[in-house]
Amino acid sequence: MAGWHDFTQKFDANIFYPAHFPPPSFESVDGAGVKPEVTKVSIVTHMGTHLDAPSHFISDSKTITDIPLERLTGEAVVWHVPAVADEAITVETLESMQPQPRAGDAVIIHTGWHSRFYDESYREHPYLSTEAAEWLVAKGVHLVGMDLMSPDLPGRLRPPGYDMPAHHVLLGNDVLIIENVGDASALAGHRVELIVGAIPFTGLDGAPIRLLARAID
Ligand SMILES: [Zn+2]
Repeated sequence: MAGWHDFTQKFDANIFYPAHFPPPSFESVDGAGVKPEVTKVSIVTHMGTHLDAPSHFISDSKTITDIPLERLTGEAVVWHVPAVADEAITVETLESMQPQPRAGDAVIIHTGWHSRFYDESYREHPYLSTEAAEWLVAKGVHLVGMDLMSPDLPGRLRPPGYDMPAHHVLLGNDVLIIENVGDASALAGHRVELIVGAIPFTGLDGAPIRLLARAID
């Protein structure tokens, strides 16, 4: 448990991504095997383990490069929240987790869904109830990371006019979101120091991150 842990999913052409995104591509610029090796990478900002800036959903709000470093570093609590396909994570469940967050903490929710990242079943993910998102805001949490493609309802369950309430509640209250967190199980139940290494794409809505944590309790 000692030392730094990597909560980042590997990034390659086989990762899961929403059906309406173009696929990620990795193309050798000079030809494979020729030195120096140089690769052209084409990705969507919301692929892999990534940070959602408020501007992803909220007009005239913070972009990735508006987020101060203090929001990308600091203390977090890591929870193992067991959940099954399409299950809502409730306030009651979050209230039962230890340790509880202090104002200004980040929260990392590990459901175990990370292990499906290369599988179609990744789509049938648990999600945050709207009340659970509101509870996290009321606790003063400033960032919520989950090993899920979205904190909102799985796409196939969204009724017409569904407006992504978990995204709106969190980002609308300046609570950042990390999606597709990797394996955080080693630090579940611990208070940690967190580093959210977001690529500073100027003025954009999201960015891939390297998510690192080490226990401090
Ligand atoms: Zn996103």
